[in-house]
Amino acid sequence: MDTDLLYLRDAYLTEVDAEVIDVDTEERTLALDRTAFYATGGGQPHDTGTLAGLPVVDVRKEGGLVWHRLGGESPVPGRGATVHGEIDWDRRHALMRTHTALHVLCGVIWNEWGVPVTGGNMEPLTARMDFAFDPLPDGFKEQVEALVAAEIAADRPIEVSFLPRDTAVTDADLIRTKVNLIPESVTEIRVVDIVGCDKQADGGTHVRSTGEVGGVKVVKTESKGKGNKRLRIEVVDGV
Ligand SMILES: [Zn+2]
Repeated sequence: MDTDLLYLRDAYLTEVDAEVIDVDTEERTLALDRTAFYATGGGQPHDTGTLAGLPVVDVRKEGGLVWHRLGGESPVPGRGATVHGEIDWDRRHALMRTHTALHVLCGVIWNEWGVPVTGGNMEPLTARMDFAFDPLPDGFKEQVEALVAAEIAADRPIEVSFLPRDTAVTDADLIRTKVNLIPESVTEIRVVDIVGCDKQADGGTHVRSTGEVGGVKVVKTESKGKGNKRLRIEVVDGV
């Protein structure tokens, strides 16, 4: 049995009741039949919160199972137990805003300059993303900030859908964002579409519309070699 990843369909779910389907008492890790806790992946760190009254200190996906590592001292629940979990919503929502900001950044840079992203990583309200610029255009920082601000002001809706693999691999936007690198065993592709700005195959959590991001500042640009320029951003409250 695989863990049902509830956050893929509802990123705003903050609590869950689930059954423990496997346990490692030495490691203090639980696998659940369903979870609201995001497991580290795709540049987005795992959620924190509480499960069975104990702090959740790590969440990892191994095969089809999501394992939740618990802190604290008291014994962890056994197989078959029903447990209640609550995610740290302030942290998660900050990550959703940050993750969405990175999609907007990818979208405006592709739409304005035709330059693809080469990598990235995020923490709550701060992130870095690398692009294949060589060199950065003059006035880049101010221009990209203005373009991102316009997308946020437009309050574009963000739509999540699930496409059959055969359909997804013929979509030009998804081809550009390397949908073909998803393993062939995945028959259904989750698509996150910031309508009119950016569309990607993606397993992360995002806000409902770009206005919810707030504001984005490009705090630094760095060269990481030929054809690789790093942008560091901060997500701030809306102005
Ligand atoms: Zn994403």
